[in-house]
Amino acid sequence: MIDRGGDAALDPGTARTRLPALMAVPPSFPNFRKDSDIMISDTHLSSVQLDIIREELEEQLFWRTRQLADLEAAVNDDAVETSAKSGLLADIVSVERSTAVVRKALKSVAELTYGRCDGCGSAIPYERLKARPLACFCMDCQRRHENG
Ligand SMILES: [Zn+2]
Repeated sequence: MIDRGGDAALDPGTARTRLPALMAVPPSFPNFRKDSDIMISDTHLSSVQLDIIREELEEQLFWRTRQLADLEAAVNDDAVETSAKSGLLADIVSVERSTAVVRKALKSVAELTYGRCDGCGSAIPYERLKARPLACFCMDCQRRHENG
């Protein structure tokens, strides 16, 4: 008596049909080789690290765009009091500004110029970028910047 269920799990044919789904790579960086987590010559970050940063930035862009749409809807809403609208307009300006910063970061990820310190041009460590994807300065320059 053959146990069909047990055989199916070990059947190499079944494993092969499952493989394409496991190997699917998001079409984010068409210029990158997909075979391994290689280091990119123009940046200190690997393609996998850049992908993680890009996803985080895209998520931030998504939420800011949504927030902007909500604010604009509120400004155009006749039910919202005029006195409240100046505050909303100020919010729109600030969200637009931060959206531009996120877009700029995403552009630099695409151009592989992301992760350089604006102050000294050195490579900002991945751990710092992961925690703060919009960081423009290395730790030293940030400290100098904050102290004036
Ligand atoms: Zn620096």
